[in-house]
Amino acid sequence: MFCRPIKFIFVKETMEMTKIETNKVLEQINNLEPTSCDLAGSEIYVKHKLLLTMTDGKVCNALTETHSSQKCYICGATPTMMNDEGRHFDSNQDNFGFGLSTLHAWIRSFECFLHISYKLDIKKWQARSSQEKASVKQRSDEIKQRFKHEMGLIVDKPKPGFGSTNDGNTARRFFGNPELSARITGLDVTIIKNFDVLLRTLCSGFEINLVEFNKLCLETRRLYLSLYSWYYMPATVHKLLIHSTEVVKTAIVPIGQLSEEAQEARNKDCRRFREHNTRKCSRLVTNRDLLNMLIITSDPLINSLREVPKKKSNKLCAEVLKLIIAPTIEPRPQIPSRPPQNEEDYLVSESSDCESDDSDIET
Ligand SMILES: [Zn+2]
Repeated sequence: MFCRPIKFIFVKETMEMTKIETNKVLEQINNLEPTSCDLAGSEIYVKHKLLLTMTDGKVCNALTETHSSQKCYICGATPTMMNDEGRHFDSNQDNFGFGLSTLHAWIRSFECFLHISYKLDIKKWQARSSQEKASVKQRSDEIKQRFKHEMGLIVDKPKPGFGSTNDGNTARRFFGNPELSARITGLDVTIIKNFDVLLRTLCSGFEINLVEFNKLCLETRRLYLSLYSWYYMPATVHKLLIHSTEVVKTAIVPIGQLSEEAQEARNKDCRRFREHNTRKCSRLVTNRDLLNMLIITSDPLINSLREVPKKKSNKLCAEVLKLIIAPTIEPRPQIPSRPPQNEEDYLVSESSDCESDDSDIET
């Protein structure tokens, strides 16, 4: 609910720096004292378990000493190994704790398909000759134009100052309309659909039926390799298809609840606050004002006064419902405020505050 800054350093983000700062945080986590609560006269202690799942790929690579961003930080596979159909991947279980970075999984999968579609004519990982380069350029221009006209999406265009226009929303729109996306890109419609189902299932925030989920992952990987084995699968796509089942199994809550989305959403706030709510007379005061704004807006008390913006209800499709386990809601036992006196007091009334309708799960 709240993404709160705990430290601000003006320094280059190196592997060494990431490790030093992470260790400092881990040390603080280890030293956390249990919180004591008083519940109707009895004292209850709550222990805290903090998980490092709001990390981006760069941080995961630094912490697992993976020096190339093309390598998988869970099993150490290189791009050639990832596209080897019969290969078995030995996972390092210590690295499951970083979660799956589900938001980045959407974006990287989308970009992977986009780049495959640019190179569909030459069917090669890298365009080397000038003829091949021209072909890729022409195809990519055409595809970008069609995305703009037919879906209203501006894809793969660098944004001044930060990243590109490929964000979570672009990716969800691409996968959300597989028929049209397949028509524009010339890619296989089933593989786009499968990715959509896999990613939506992971993000749903519900428990996942791992047997069925893993089946779909392996099936999708086979399909990918049969169609596009000439394009090296990006590490994020490999992680999704090979390791996601194991990672989900070891996570203590449904994986969709461990998304890095809350933190990424703060980037937008940072830019807005810096532009409109800071003094610009020196770098020091600009950053002080920015941090103050971040602290204020993430304050639990202030936040509780704010009206929660209504989220558009997002119904899960039938394919996703097949892969998730419907949540069970236990009826709350009713505690009589006075000692039971007659037969009626022993009956638990049918409480209306736990309406469960498992056919209609919404996020
Ligand atoms: Zn791997």
